[in-house]
Amino acid sequence: MSFKTIPFLLLSILILFSCGQQESKVITVNGAIPASEIGKTLHHEHLLVDFIGADSTGYHRWNKNEVVEKVLPYLLEIKKLGYKTLVECTPEYLGRDPELLKLLSDKSGIQIITNVGYYSAVNAKFLPQHAFTQTARQMADLWIEQAQNGIEGTGIYPGFIKIAVERAPLKEINKKVVEAACITHKATGLTIMSHTGPAVPAFQQFEILKEYGVHPSAFIWTHSNNEKDNNKHLEAAKLGAWIAFDKFTPDNQDEFVDFALFMKKHGLLGKLLFSHDGGWYKPGEPNGGDFYGFTGIEELLIPALLEKGLTQPDIHQLFVQNPSEAFKVGKRLLKE
Ligand SMILES: [Zn+2]
Repeated sequence: MSFKTIPFLLLSILILFSCGQQESKVITVNGAIPASEIGKTLHHEHLLVDFIGADSTGYHRWNKNEVVEKVLPYLLEIKKLGYKTLVECTPEYLGRDPELLKLLSDKSGIQIITNVGYYSAVNAKFLPQHAFTQTARQMADLWIEQAQNGIEGTGIYPGFIKIAVERAPLKEINKKVVEAACITHKATGLTIMSHTGPAVPAFQQFEILKEYGVHPSAFIWTHSNNEKDNNKHLEAAKLGAWIAFDKFTPDNQDEFVDFALFMKKHGLLGKLLFSHDGGWYKPGEPNGGDFYGFTGIEELLIPALLEKGLTQPDIHQLFVQNPSEAFKVGKRLLKE
């Protein structure tokens, strides 16, 4: 080997290594991107939600151009604040509209991530009829199909699994939806975000994950701030689950700050996610109704976190690294 080839070899190794590093992807409505390009992220927001019920909702319920006109300024607002990605958590039968999201992403330059999955909270009002008769496997097959072939022929792919269960001990229908999410995770590597609330249904879901061999790091415990016993959060985070505090408002700022300090003290800041669970355009209301924007975290929460002792690297961890790690596509399975 000549002396000259050594730098070339080193460069090749470096390229190979960095390609290996880039294998983690997140899936936006404009396709897969390296997880490292997620940037500053709001991990749980909504651009449109239609609460009319699974039997009546559909794309006829809103005009995409009117929604764009109303919603685009809120995306431009966060873009100006340095955000790159917004995870849109409205599931199918509640107003998920992939083409609308792509339109908003293209016009705003914000990367948007959409989902697959069903919302079985609120007495299953948002479940399609087939969900009651299908097995978990059949339900999962519908979701896996969307993950593999795109949503309804749009060429747009889901980037995570969004489900919801009751804020109470799980009913059979809730269990089925969680089981379908586990099957889908094992087939696709998509992360499961579960609208949950208190610890009881959260830990019941961890049991189902275990039965299916899915590691808790594939699971985001959404609305975990409904649980007031921080030991439960600690226990779940130590298992590997993502702990999401959602619906940030100026009124619960102290609670969010205290919880961040608590997680930092226990070395678990790397498992914490914050959101506004904000938005959204409401079909059927004049001009889409009231819209709760997405700037509170940047304008209020982050300065308060810094003032109480979090560092800039901690903020980067919460709003860049954690979402990147939580939403990267990859199977998280329990070791046999
Ligand atoms: Zn939500």
